[in-house]
Amino acid sequence: MNEAAEIIDDRGGIGLPLHDNTLRSVTILGSTGSIGCNTIDLLERHRESFTVEALTANNNIKLLAEQARKIGAKSAVTADHSRYRELKCELADTNINVSAGPEALVEAADMPAEFVMAAIVGAAGLRPTLAAVKRGAIVGLANKECLVCAGDLMIGEVERNCATLLPVDSEHNAIYQVFDFEREASVARIILTASGGPFRNADLTTMTNATPEQAVAHPNWDMGAKISVDSATMMNKGLEMIEAFHLFPVTAEKIDILVHPQSVIHSMVEYVDGSVLAQLGTPDMRTPIAYSLAWPERIATPSAKLDLAELATLTFEAPDPERFPCLRLAQEALATGGAAPIILNAANEIAVAAFLKRKIQFMDIPRLVEFCMLKVGAGEVNSIEAVMEIDGEARKIASENIDSRQ
Ligand code: NAD
Ligand code: MG
Repeated sequence: MNEAAEIIDDRGGIGLPLHDNTLRSVTILGSTGSIGCNTIDLLERHRESFTVEALTANNNIKLLAEQARKIGAKSAVTADHSRYRELKCELADTNINVSAGPEALVEAADMPAEFVMAAIVGAAGLRPTLAAVKRGAIVGLANKECLVCAGDLMIGEVERNCATLLPVDSEHNAIYQVFDFEREASVARIILTASGGPFRNADLTTMTNATPEQAVAHPNWDMGAKISVDSATMMNKGLEMIEAFHLFPVTAEKIDILVHPQSVIHSMVEYVDGSVLAQLGTPDMRTPIAYSLAWPERIATPSAKLDLAELATLTFEAPDPERFPCLRLAQEALATGGAAPIILNAANEIAVAAFLKRKIQFMDIPRLVEFCMLKVGAGEVNSIEAVMEIDGEARKIASENIDSRQ
């Protein structure tokens, strides 16, 4: 730590210029979402350490423009062609470059930022995240769906292009911090902790009649709607199992899930000698985001500090496969490989969106995913085009099934 360079600012943060006083340039893909806003919050607290290249969003144009102004971004990009004019008008009195459309998103990821936060939700983030990986950037990966549907391709490109992939998902960030990558044979298993979501203790009738409002009311984490529903069905933990399989050198059998309602132990690695290493903290995504932003340094966050004496009790239980069939579906998809995880993810995205629009019931989500997994044929998956084709086919079958109910 370079003490002379320490800056105690009026926002309560302790800023450190990263690596020898050069500023780290950052692009955020999905800056208006929950992860995106938390990233902006940290960048504001550490202005002396970062510059901002590009911010991207889907259709929250007002917030995107406000963020770009506030943080001094060079470019602001919306994924939606039809919103170009609106964004251009919002930023008319600035020098900020404005562009729109899915290709503009890929171009934003291609801009020369040293660090890219991949925080788009769903498979929509795949192409831009891959573009950042292909130019060898440091990528903070929140967008787990990328790895679920194109894990082998993505990791192959990380290796080929010497990119750095830093997990932002709290469980994977925890494992990353305690995994001995130099002695991977000494790892007995990794243990992903799960809060259990809002329906941890609910009976099946309550779950069947659950409303979107109940499903998104997560007990510990404040997150976007899609991942909140995924936490309620526990598909989130299923997706995270697949994510972990791609991020860490372990076989599927060595990935376990443990329900831990307090979300204080973010995950653990068990070694062959019986040692278990864990990373702990209060449930605030700014901790893993800060870890990735500053890596390999550390920067201060305003996250509440852990007070174990006050907490007093940490509890654990096994997940219930009956009420949470998404866990089994994700396990099956991981074991089958190939097209199966792509279908699982695409069908789940469509099912969650339909549930949020009250078109289907909560327990229809796993039913629809299973239906699609049985219906969509397996195919070769050796290119992004193949991934997108299977993804499209699964979305079509899921949507048709939902429409046939109306
Ligand atoms: P969110 O819904 O709050 O935000 C998503 C962002 O992606 C927004 O900026 C939105 O404009 C953008 N976006 C949405 N659809 C898009 C599209 N089609 N094209 C381009 N951009 C699009 O989501 P979130 O909760 O911030 O989650 C983002 C990712 O991080 C997800 O993959 C989620 O699983 C993962 N994650 C989130 C949390 C969390 O605490 N929120 C924790 C762990 C992992
Ligand atoms: Mg997580």
